[in-house]
Amino acid sequence: MGTPQLTKNQSLVLGALSHSDGPMSAYTILDKLRDQGFRAPLQVYRALDKLLEHGLVHRLESINAFVACTCPDEHEHDHGVTAFTICEGCGQVTEFHDETIEQRLAALVRARNFKTEKTTIEIRGQCKSCA
Ligand SMILES: [Zn+2]
Ligand SMILES: [Zn+2]
Repeated sequence: MGTPQLTKNQSLVLGALSHSDGPMSAYTILDKLRDQGFRAPLQVYRALDKLLEHGLVHRLESINAFVACTCPDEHEHDHGVTAFTICEGCGQVTEFHDETIEQRLAALVRARNFKTEKTTIEIRGQCKSCA
């Protein structure tokens, strides 16, 4: 598989997110990319949809924003459980994965005959410097 082929718009959106200090809403991304020819939120959403599909970007539902994936691995594995700590003071977001949580949740879900599409854990609170 390797790195998926991205369109120009997808690369621009991914670039904006990768260079951002924190998560960005679709509208913030649009503002950043206006000079690059982005005009409508739909262009951003379309690019985000593909990037989400490829696992290059994650959506943080609780703050309605997006972050670039920071997993060091190649994106050949499906993400399993993606967990984030989200600081309510400075907005810092940190992504992490834990196999124990992943296996435990998978077992719980299997026991309920439920088919998981994706699992995102969002932990809100304060980072070390804000606490
Ligand atoms: Zn990730
Ligand atoms: Zn903080």
